[in-house]
Amino acid sequence: MRLLLVEDDHMLAAAVQDLLRRAGYTVDRVACGLDALQSLEREHFSLVILDLGLPDMDGLELLSRLRQHSNPVQVLILSARNESTDRVLGLDTGADDYLSKPFDVEELLARIRVLLRRQPQGSGSNRQVFGDLAIDREAYQVFWQDRRVELTPGEFKLLLELVDHRGKVMTRDRLQEVVYGWDECAESNVLEVYVHHLRKKLDKKLIKTVRGVGYLVEELPAAAQV
Ligand code: CA
Repeated sequence: MRLLLVEDDHMLAAAVQDLLRRAGYTVDRVACGLDALQSLEREHFSLVILDLGLPDMDGLELLSRLRQHSNPVQVLILSARNESTDRVLGLDTGADDYLSKPFDVEELLARIRVLLRRQPQGSGSNRQVFGDLAIDREAYQVFWQDRRVELTPGEFKLLLELVDHRGKVMTRDRLQEVVYGWDECAESNVLEVYVHHLRKKLDKKLIKTVRGVGYLVEELPAAAQV
């Protein structure tokens, strides 16, 4: 899950970014409205955490621009303005939730979880999320940092086997059996080729080679069903 944090208070922003990363999210951080708009044009985010008092524009103006352009990204306002009129204005402008500063970190995390569960159908109802990696087994889809990655059926099977046994070394024999059964005709380097493709398509550090034995995906951030 990739989140965008729009906050010009650098100390607060760094603390929130750190908190969210430890909770397993990928977090991009910007400190002004224009940078936020540019990031939102370039990348897909699951959620925006938005401060209202930004140096170049009001957070509400940023939000209303997003909604005018029919950008459906979920927005959680995190603001020191905590009058009920501010909350109503924020929600009326198109925010999905509103949390006042100072806030309780557990409450922030809980509200983010609720919003991410509300993602539109088809964009993650069966996704298992492990930090940067997300897998939807039913739809045969894999996402890296929220970007869809196309895998062949063999690559998909290999990835699932390694992820399901993360933290354990999987022997070459076992993986070969999973990926292409006991097909005597299969090229002996098929496994290496699949691993090479997965590293290229996902991340080169995701799958470790254990010399003379097999392969390993190390412990991933805790699985979340989204
Ligand atoms: Ca501010």
